[in-house]
Amino acid sequence: MSESHLHKWRFKFPNAADFNFNYWTLLNDDDQTPIAEAPPNKQPRIAIVGAGVAGLTAARELFRSGYTDIDIYEATKRIGGRTYSLPSALPDGVTTYELGAMRLPFFWPKDSESTAEGCGYGPGSQNCVVDYYCTRFGITTQMFPNPGEVKTGIYINRGRGPMPQVFPDVTQLPPPKLIDWVKLGGAPGEPTLDRIYNKWVNFKKAFLQECGAAYGRDAEWAVLWQKKIRQYGDLSFRDFVRRSVESGGLGMNADESRVFAVIGLGDAGWGAFYDISVLWVLRTLFGFSDKLQLIRGVVSADGIPSTWEDDTPSDSLGQHLDPPTFLGVQSLAECLFYRRDKREKSLYEAIKEAKRERAKQIGVHLYIDNPVRSLTFLEEACGLPPHRENPDSPPVRLVSDRITRDYDAVIITAPPWSLIVETPFENFSPDSLPWPVREAMNSSHFMPSCKVFYPLKNRYWDRSSPIPQVIITDTFAQGAYGVAVADKEWGYPGVLLASYTWGDDATKLVSDDDQELGRRCLAHLDGILERCGIEDRLSNWVDDRKAIVHHWLRSPWQRGCARVYRAGNSALDSALLTYNRRYSAKSHLYLAGESYSVEGGWVEPALRSALDAAIHVVRNTGGQFRKGFDYNQHYPEHVCSASALSDSRTGPA
Ligand SMILES: Cc1cc2nc3c(=O)[nH]c(=O)nc-3n(C[C@H](O)[C@H](O)[C@H](O)COP(=O)(O)OP(=O)(O)OC[C@H]3O[C@@H](n4cnc5c(N)ncnc54)[C@H](O)[C@@H]3O)c2cc1C
Repeated sequence: MSESHLHKWRFKFPNAADFNFNYWTLLNDDDQTPIAEAPPNKQPRIAIVGAGVAGLTAARELFRSGYTDIDIYEATKRIGGRTYSLPSALPDGVTTYELGAMRLPFFWPKDSESTAEGCGYGPGSQNCVVDYYCTRFGITTQMFPNPGEVKTGIYINRGRGPMPQVFPDVTQLPPPKLIDWVKLGGAPGEPTLDRIYNKWVNFKKAFLQECGAAYGRDAEWAVLWQKKIRQYGDLSFRDFVRRSVESGGLGMNADESRVFAVIGLGDAGWGAFYDISVLWVLRTLFGFSDKLQLIRGVVSADGIPSTWEDDTPSDSLGQHLDPPTFLGVQSLAECLFYRRDKREKSLYEAIKEAKRERAKQIGVHLYIDNPVRSLTFLEEACGLPPHRENPDSPPVRLVSDRITRDYDAVIITAPPWSLIVETPFENFSPDSLPWPVREAMNSSHFMPSCKVFYPLKNRYWDRSSPIPQVIITDTFAQGAYGVAVADKEWGYPGVLLASYTWGDDATKLVSDDDQELGRRCLAHLDGILERCGIEDRLSNWVDDRKAIVHHWLRSPWQRGCARVYRAGNSALDSALLTYNRRYSAKSHLYLAGESYSVEGGWVEPALRSALDAAIHVVRNTGGQFRKGFDYNQHYPEHVCSASALSDSRTGPA
């Protein structure tokens, strides 16, 4: 097949490096038809472990395709997982605390400009899965107040600037100040920071230019990206920063590298990622970190947020579910679950129907507060006798706290460490769950994070306060962001994200009492403002009675905020990425969600991998794809295929 025929099945640049399949084309059409048709004769039993966005996407698309025997198991008492938008505590509050994901990219192709009114680069790109769902559900966005894109103050070395050591006489030190960064998207305007900024921007420009020229042409792109994997796969971000420009690095000296680590480019410290594989950083350059959008939620044309006027929702066991607010990032999960399509019922309606027809086991079910504890392969494996008497019965036994049932397909979206501690895989042979896949799960690295919020009484940045909307520091608090939805008529003041830390810096805060940590962050930020001669305090603008603090490290069902990986992990990453294609037909297990992706920390790969799992369930259960999609012709191999990766272990090209 010529490459031009594949055109509509490929995303435009910039987009994911390792696997370019245009899920938007598969999902989208005016008639809202599903991606496939379930086999006519027998309904396979499908279990989905986890009701985050990945689990709900897989459930939704399979259900729309006519699969009607689907059980969703969720360990916590809510749906949404790491999309978690807590409504503001103020009586009329609508702005939410984004405890998990908070800024999403829409992968606007380089050659197009957004026409979407008022939200710049939000829905309408037709170039990612997030776009498909946000457009479909009417989820609106606005630019996220990223450092440098709104008024930003950089505080470094107690306000003395990035290189205080150049003043040997302390009496000559400049007075403490916040370095202004207001040039939209440009360099900060301070010589050292500008030098660092330019080193990074020059690399990024050249890298994306080279990649953009080959992207979209499968064969050419595979050669180039495999070369990059070989070049960078064994390199940490720290090494890459110091490596010379001629050898493909940023060429920073020790001082510059230290500033880059603690302050980034004003966009909060990159130190948490210094010991991560630089491949993770490079992968985020493919559109993941561009023009990030704050998600408002489902909002009518006149700016009124959607409300839920139906019943009091509950799961299949009658356990209370919080009604949807359709606000913030979590609205995506809520829409996937509650919103019906033109023709089909929503997952929630299907669950209600199954409850009404209690006698029938077949149906859609959601079981919250019900962790999965084990998955056992019931066929003969590893020399063990077969557990199954009837060869036609489903081969995987799932045991959860409240339900035990056998399944034909189990889609796992739960992060590996919640599974390793909670869910042993029993009796799966090495040719259905190979050792590299187990090893990749065992060794998967989850980055901790900590967010500290206060509700705002007013938006200080709209009220001629001299306080920058965003303050980036090299201190324990790191980044402080004023965040609010833009619709003036809502009149809701928003929140102060008073501290956002990752990695080791977040771990150091995990032992603090939440309220004490909140008070400390606020006092610390006020102290910075005072020291820098700014005549206003953040504490004047917040309701300081209760801080909202969230550590994902404390959740046994995540054990961190994002899946990242260290240098030299490419073969294990590839084992996870290619599992569904290679082994699911045999094991009946499917891996989905951000936890099994190589672009950890983003919603988009969670959705893409969920669709990958759904596609392989259709393929392995005898379903038929629709919309002209031919798996063998249109669905590519992962670029980081096993052969390329075995090369990568032998050293750079
Ligand atoms: C602090 C933070 C900031 C982030 N920022 C961004 C951002 O700005 N932009 C962006 O795009 N993305 C961001 N992300 C990443 C994004 O939130 C995730 O990639 C995405 O939500 C992952 O979805 P998922 O369904 O794959 O996994 P999850 O949301 O983790 O869902 C997995 C589900 O499985 C459940 N589970 C676990 N174990 C079991 C078990 N044994 N049995 C049953 N259920 C189980 C969990 O409770 C959970 O509900 C951020 C994440 C965090 C935490």
